[in-house]
Amino acid sequence: MKYYSTRDNSLQKTSMEVIKQGLSAEGGLFVPESIPAVSMEELSGLLKADYRERAKKILSMYLTDYSSRQLTDCVEGAYSADNFSSPETAPVTELEKGLHVLELWHGPTCAFKDMALQILPYLMTTAVRATGDNKEILILTATSGDTGKAAMEGFSDIPGTRILVFYPQQGVSPMQKLQMVTQEGSNVMAAAVKGNFDDAQTGVKQVFRDEELRDYLDKRGLSFSSANSINWGRLVPQIVYYFSSYLDLVRYNRISLGEPVNIVVPTGNFGNILAAWYAREMGLPVNRLICASNDNKVLADFIRTGVYDKRREFYQTISPSMDILVSSNLERLLYELAQRDDAQVKDWMKQLSYRGFYQIKGEALKRLQSDFWGGSASVEETMASIQDTYQKTGYVMDPHTAVGKWVYDSYRRETGDTDATILVSTASPFKFPADVLKAIQPGSSGSIDPSHVHAKYTEAVYEIKLLEQLAKVSGWNIPKPLQGLQDKEIRHRAVCSREQIREQVIAMIDSQEMR
Ligand SMILES: *Cc1c(COP(=O)(O)O)cnc(C)c1O
Repeated sequence: MKYYSTRDNSLQKTSMEVIKQGLSAEGGLFVPESIPAVSMEELSGLLKADYRERAKKILSMYLTDYSSRQLTDCVEGAYSADNFSSPETAPVTELEKGLHVLELWHGPTCAFKDMALQILPYLMTTAVRATGDNKEILILTATSGDTGKAAMEGFSDIPGTRILVFYPQQGVSPMQKLQMVTQEGSNVMAAAVKGNFDDAQTGVKQVFRDEELRDYLDKRGLSFSSANSINWGRLVPQIVYYFSSYLDLVRYNRISLGEPVNIVVPTGNFGNILAAWYAREMGLPVNRLICASNDNKVLADFIRTGVYDKRREFYQTISPSMDILVSSNLERLLYELAQRDDAQVKDWMKQLSYRGFYQIKGEALKRLQSDFWGGSASVEETMASIQDTYQKTGYVMDPHTAVGKWVYDSYRRETGDTDATILVSTASPFKFPADVLKAIQPGSSGSIDPSHVHAKYTEAVYEIKLLEQLAKVSGWNIPKPLQGLQDKEIRHRAVCSREQIREQVIAMIDSQEMR
């Protein structure tokens, strides 16, 4: 299978090349030349397979230049029992009749990013070795919180790689920040960017396209790649769990084979839901893809109106990993909606960066609206969703998952659709203990009052106290990777502005060379 760029159909690359490179040189995203089909017989054949076997099957359909042996090694390394606390890797539990929660947070950093970022380093280093490249890969990553930690964890001490992470100084949760600044590994670094996620992402994208900087790296035997979901090597592993969760529902007699389901995805950069769209295109029986936004509802509005308009206020919410106004991966969907017209995609992207908006019409809009349904939840609605679900079922949702649940309830009210539905749970509630506690135990005297606690404790110790409190109230166990964080050394303290990202990259490269 060959890969094109969304902004240049004349490019032809192999999957190893696109995974190594991340983003295409002219700014486009890599896309497969065609979308492979999975038949009902093949689906049925995977019913008894475990997660690793299912992953191997799906990956082999896209990553055709990897050998079967290579894919087996990647999959076995990534989805081992050491890495994932659940034997099913991505278990599905029934929340209420017909609504199933797909838990994607049993990996080492407790968010869904692990599902792809545990395997990406294997895919990347395999590609480097196989293509006889002796360059070291420099992974540059902008994060709204969870990607950064998951990428640092995945690439930590992986030979032949270095990783630099940029996160918005004010835009990540205390737990996300704590996880990142304490990350160990001789090849990892993180810096805070003054601004929001879009500032970090735009700054990083500029660095990617900086010819002079590329030369500078080249001279030092380094080449750029990305661990963001613009990298195709992140997208493919995410297609796997949509198949796997569907198969599990069939296997446990919750649905019959061939029965359509809806899939609800709390969405930010449009990577996760796009993977679901690819699964649907491949033949997975999916009715509607429900795109759930928080107050930054640029995507929900786009699905409803066809106008993508980033000229709006940016809100900081309690679901920070979805605080995004420019959703990079949407470009891959636009490419397909435009019947693979690269010039059209380029034009829309140009309008977005110069005018701040673009509009899709006609067939493209019709298709968007038949595949997707968009809705949003405010901060208050998100809190109500956590509280209501906890009271009715005892299930504790993190704020991102809760946005999904709220939007699903609106979808059901508006459409009357009662098809079985998979709600994607993207993070453990223990990553956001303060807000989750506030929601499930409103006004309780047992909760800690931050105003007088902060004087006494460091942020880390306070955060751990909240974890313990949440465990006590909910009866759930604190995930292992989040235990003991308060005792870890703070290793990453750099702060820079969006304009200083370039300098920061150079400084980080130089300082790593001194080590
Ligand atoms: C990254 C993230 C999202 C958004 O996923 P996208 O692929 O960017 O749409 C949602 N929830 C959590 C917890 C995340 O970490």
